[in-house]
Amino acid sequence: MKTKPYIGRFAPSPTGLLHAGSLAAALASYLDARAHNGTWLIRIEDVDIQRCSKASALAILDVLARLGMESDAPVIWQTERFDRYEAALATLLEKGMAYGCSCSRSEIQKANAALGRDGMIYPGTCRMGAKGSARAIRFKTHDEPITVQDRWSEPFTQKVESEVGDFVIKRADGNWAYQLAVLVDDFESGVTDVVRGADLIDNTPRQIQLMQALGYPIPRYMHIPLVLNDRQEKLSKQAGALALSDDLLEETERAWTHLGFERIGADNLAAFYPVATQLWKEKFGI
Ligand code: GLU
Repeated sequence: MKTKPYIGRFAPSPTGLLHAGSLAAALASYLDARAHNGTWLIRIEDVDIQRCSKASALAILDVLARLGMESDAPVIWQTERFDRYEAALATLLEKGMAYGCSCSRSEIQKANAALGRDGMIYPGTCRMGAKGSARAIRFKTHDEPITVQDRWSEPFTQKVESEVGDFVIKRADGNWAYQLAVLVDDFESGVTDVVRGADLIDNTPRQIQLMQALGYPIPRYMHIPLVLNDRQEKLSKQAGALALSDDLLEETERAWTHLGFERIGADNLAAFYPVATQLWKEKFGI
């Protein structure tokens, strides 16, 4: 039987340098693609232009190159793809699945918004039409439970409308939201397998709803455990994550043990990858 070609990706947001957590995500997605004889892509998620910088993006790409993780196609930059997000938004608006919202934060608060997984749950005030000039565009969610079948962890179910609410896909400041950009890009690159950090599993049901609305196929998912700091916080620039040391072989071995494997003890990265790919294939080859 012919299996579907595998296309995976690593999609860092260039808000800082690559750290141990992002290295684990990069390594897992890279090995998963290699173990499936698949294609591996790098996408720079610089859609949030206030928080991202070109310097961070170039530094991330430089470390990935030194790690020997090369994209199989030219690197994709979200800032070059705004017309694609515009087209997806037009489709959603046409189908009546997105709407302009004129509410400010304080108006949402006053409307008795509950606190959900991701801040305030929008109470749907503008669903029937914005009262003033629309500031942001929201996706019209529904409450049919969405279950993510995850290759790493237990299935994860969420009722998006009541747990998250109608979420923003184009922000009031004109920026595109990650939620929309990520799946337009994955779809247009033909991504079949998403391998990323467990902090994002919470976002996956709303992304699945959006994909269903746009008629996109749903990829397979693997959400890998987060690397935490001493205070049990997710590594991030805000939490003071340190950049990787120059000993990239050691950093890679550490990311590998974080992923639940025993240290390989390779002499160099060129020797590390074939062994790691084989072991990954034995564990996650399907
Ligand atoms: N850009 C996101 C991040 O750096 C990852 C998005 C994804 O893999 O879907 O956290």
